[in-house]
Amino acid sequence: MGAQQEKKPSEERKHKSTQNNTQTSQVQWGRAWEVDWFSLASVLFLLMFAPLIVYYFIMSCDQYQCSLMNPLIDLLTRNKHLSDIWNKTPMLTYKAAGIYALWVTFQVVLYICLPDFCHKFLPRYVGGVQEGAVTPAGIVNKYEINGLQAWIFTHVLWFANAYYFHYFSPTIIFDNWIPLMWCANILGYAVSTFAMIKGYFFPTNPKDCKFTGNFFYDYMMGIEFNPRIGKWFDFKLFFNGRPGIVAWTLINLSYAAKQQELYGQVTNSMILVNVLQGIYVLDFFWNEAWYLKTIDICHDHFGWYLGWGDCVWLPYLYTLQGLYLVYHPVQLGTANAIGILILGFIGYYIFRMTNHQKDLFRRTNGNCKIWGKKPEYIECSYMSVEGTKYYSKLMTSGFWGWARHFNYTGDLMGSLAYCLACGFEHILPYFYIVYMTILLTHRCIRDEHRCLSKYGKDWKRYTAAVPYRLLPGVF
Ligand code: NDP
Repeated sequence: MGAQQEKKPSEERKHKSTQNNTQTSQVQWGRAWEVDWFSLASVLFLLMFAPLIVYYFIMSCDQYQCSLMNPLIDLLTRNKHLSDIWNKTPMLTYKAAGIYALWVTFQVVLYICLPDFCHKFLPRYVGGVQEGAVTPAGIVNKYEINGLQAWIFTHVLWFANAYYFHYFSPTIIFDNWIPLMWCANILGYAVSTFAMIKGYFFPTNPKDCKFTGNFFYDYMMGIEFNPRIGKWFDFKLFFNGRPGIVAWTLINLSYAAKQQELYGQVTNSMILVNVLQGIYVLDFFWNEAWYLKTIDICHDHFGWYLGWGDCVWLPYLYTLQGLYLVYHPVQLGTANAIGILILGFIGYYIFRMTNHQKDLFRRTNGNCKIWGKKPEYIECSYMSVEGTKYYSKLMTSGFWGWARHFNYTGDLMGSLAYCLACGFEHILPYFYIVYMTILLTHRCIRDEHRCLSKYGKDWKRYTAAVPYRLLPGVF
């Protein structure tokens, strides 16, 4: 199941096109050039409310045992004022600032100073220097894929220091959770602002920059496509994967340790959440080279959406189930626990196999077997900024014949499993499945809009052949 890179663009069939109308279609793919009022309203809403949403969820657990309603009731009945809640909120501490600075520095060092050696001894793992997809300007970036190595190093050091040398407690993350949130926000805003300034004054690839003229939209959705410092420090790959996703499993481990400290045992629901999310995280790093071909890297520009989102939104809201279980240690009945585990595994299987089928199909240029047969596909073409014509294929068999984004369906099943592990007492742990449903449905529509701009009539032939997006016969 190891992912490997797609066919190199230099090996793709391509030729120069002199047609005038190509200029229109070239610039359409990638993120928008013009901002409609709905996009602008959504951007302003998110810029204003996303940090408050994160604060509200984490504060609800800290002060209200994870009840989302009680803070509102307290405020509406004037039982409490906003200042009461704010005054009870832990502030930034030197300790948290030190931990966070050390954490980010350590991840930067692992990212840029340690070339990958895992691919030398792990069969089927693709690491080391890999190429990304062709950007709208026709550039192909090289990446040092060493996320799995960073994850292993970090976790070995975590266990050694927390359980063997006792340099720190394994509950250190939980114990400093809110002060660390302020640090994550500082980094999230700093990196987004830096990316904006860099986009204007010293972009890495000026041809891959997009300016809409709207400050808020550009700040949120990013100007530069692949901002870099030096040859190797790629903002998107670093911030998407580390520090957020490496931290995900450590955060969950810290929650499990807190349960142990508070109740003298770790519940089966906490183990389920740790195992299912751990598989998801490990899958991400095992397939980091494949990840270079996903929408985050291939199509999104780097702005607040990715910068702040990876620093704050992801580590704080993707780990809500574990946090909830510290306050509500749910012990599931055996049948329920097995049912949730099976749902999680089936979701993961669909997610992984669907992604694997596309990866295999693209990597072999269709010369492979999907479910024992030669894959069916639609031939399509698109243009780069300089007018070079590229050819590609859209698969219409396997899971990709069932729906146009069955990988999202598998992801949603897995997400539901994490939430179900928390029982039904509170809605807070269900935020994740609601959010993922909105995120992936919106992503699906966004991606299809982009593919339509990129492939034109070929995309229409594809949607006629595979009419459903997520659920065959339904949507
Ligand atoms: P996909 O991996 O589905 O990639 C979409 C791209 O694949 C399209 O833009 C197109 O790109 C190509 N493509 C579309 N249809 C076909 C086809 N039939 N045959 C061949 N290629 C096709 O999307 P994402 O990058 O969004 O997602 C990757 C995974 O990451 C998913 O499993 C998703 O669930 C997960 N994810 C998880 C998130 C989280 O927060 N947990 C967030 C986002 C994603 P091209 O231009 O190359 O043709």
